[in-house]
Amino acid sequence: MMKSPRRIKHRLDQGIASSTGCVIPSCGRPTMAAAGKGLAAFHCRKHVEHKARHGSHWHGTYSAAELKPYLAAATSYLRPRINADKFISAALASIEGTLEAAGPTEIATRLKGMPASKRAKIALARLRVGGIKPERFVAIVLAVTALIEEDPGSHRTKEFRRVQIAKALHRLASGYHRVWELPDDRGRLRKVSELHAFPRSSGPVLRLIGKAVEQPCEWVVDKHLASVLNLKVKRYGRHPALPPKA
Ligand SMILES: [Zn+2]
Repeated sequence: MMKSPRRIKHRLDQGIASSTGCVIPSCGRPTMAAAGKGLAAFHCRKHVEHKARHGSHWHGTYSAAELKPYLAAATSYLRPRINADKFISAALASIEGTLEAAGPTEIATRLKGMPASKRAKIALARLRVGGIKPERFVAIVLAVTALIEEDPGSHRTKEFRRVQIAKALHRLASGYHRVWELPDDRGRLRKVSELHAFPRSSGPVLRLIGKAVEQPCEWVVDKHLASVLNLKVKRYGRHPALPPKA
């Protein structure tokens, strides 16, 4: 049955009326669209910015401590299977190829105005130069996916997962220190030190990094996630938000 134009208009009006306030419970701020400051029809500026940084309008970035037991379990699980499991071998080879193809690293000042895709490649190249091995990338994908799977309060979306993978890689590389030599305006070489692999990573860069690292691991996640999660629970117990026993 066709809906009458009047009913459709009524529904549209209702939709517009109900979207003037941010949909995050107890937020109360006007949506960006209602405030005339953007296209976001359902969320306020604060929650839009939260999503850009964390990959979710409401869920924050997991801490290193929260991720730790999952990362430990994923690392031990992978170690004896690196050459023995075809899905793991294929993911490692693919990530190695992605890191090689990421090209040269660049100094932070040259990143200005670069497209997100180029900045994502540079971030991956920095992880390669920093000596981060493909095994670590696969372990992080498994760990983040397992944590999101087990945590009953998590936000189970592809976007949140990818941003959290990129954030975990970022944290891993944040202790990475390198001194670059850069000519100044008189042509003399000056030392510039750099502490972060991903200086001022923007939202789109984080999503591209997460995607580039997660995609080669799809089969590994499909075949091994349940076993990694079992190992984590056996060793470190269930997620703190769950009752101790099922
Ligand atoms: Zn809000």
